[in-house]
Amino acid sequence: MSEPSLRLLPRAYSLRDEQGNARKVTLRDALRQYGRSMNFIADRRRTMHALFETTHLLMLAPTLVFFGAYASFPTMLLFFAIFLFLANFVNTVWYHRYCSHRAFRFRSVWVPRILLWLNPLGYREEVYALVHHVHHSHPDQDLDPNGPRLGWLGNYIASYFEIDTEVNEEQYRQIKSRIAHIGMPFASYESFRRWGCVELIPHYLARWVFASVLWTAFWYALGGIPFVMAWYAVQFCWHAAVRDFNFRGHGTAENPKQIDGWDLDRHSFARNQRFYGFLAGEWHNNHHAFRASANTAFLPGQVDVPFQIIRLMKACGLVVRYYDHRSEFLRRFDEQLKGDCQSIEEPASV
Ligand SMILES: [Zn+2]
Ligand SMILES: [Zn+2]
Repeated sequence: MSEPSLRLLPRAYSLRDEQGNARKVTLRDALRQYGRSMNFIADRRRTMHALFETTHLLMLAPTLVFFGAYASFPTMLLFFAIFLFLANFVNTVWYHRYCSHRAFRFRSVWVPRILLWLNPLGYREEVYALVHHVHHSHPDQDLDPNGPRLGWLGNYIASYFEIDTEVNEEQYRQIKSRIAHIGMPFASYESFRRWGCVELIPHYLARWVFASVLWTAFWYALGGIPFVMAWYAVQFCWHAAVRDFNFRGHGTAENPKQIDGWDLDRHSFARNQRFYGFLAGEWHNNHHAFRASANTAFLPGQVDVPFQIIRLMKACGLVVRYYDHRSEFLRRFDEQLKGDCQSIEEPASV
């Protein structure tokens, strides 16, 4: 069998002891992984990540300034409004459903190309999507880049995982094909091997700077420094929430935290948590059952705001079609929904 094209480099620590038993991830392990992932002197393929992570840490300063000096009823309303926008549109619709799973199709390739230039977060779409593909291929296993086995801090500060660049040209072509729909220009094979970045680096840097200046100017024009601080505070909190979700989205073999009649798919320990479901449409257990579905609110009492945004974009003509696997889901889990816990079929692939 040929080598898979998409692989992640091993962690700086092991999840197993010498006897092969699962071991607890310590603070030292997490910090070692973090330090290594930032050490671009030792390996220049970490440069883009180190740059991004540094800006994330720097965002803590305006976040503290915002909550310490500018938090008031109107600015907090703004904070939550922007947060909901980033959580639902930028995170779930853009990064998760489109970039990672291509659950819908834009009418024109220019729509995602423009969205790339408007994305202020600096978090590379390729990292979100490719690392996420590994998560879906190996949920809750040692190769899974996220999960509660790594501990909260392990997910927060060491959740970034490096893509193995020791691939041949055909494997690099396969990696590019996974994210071709996003619409970014690609780096050459030689550049990918040197820098670990699939997107053409000048394109990535230019659009990140452009979007940062654009949005900062926009909020400054609208409400001066307090609005700009609110904007940076939301960015920091969004990144923190995503990393928290990576920790909380699944249970473990010892403590699956899955509820009968609610978390129906048992091929992984993914959970349908109300907090992240209502906040950002992340009904994660349903999503693991049908990962390419633009809708994940399959059960009574679940609401999927990002899916309604996708439907709205279709009504406006920006989107031409989307997948909704609700009826397939209900058919697959029909017996469980009737209260009869039988074995279930293989989940659908991307
Ligand atoms: Zn998951
Ligand atoms: Zn997913």
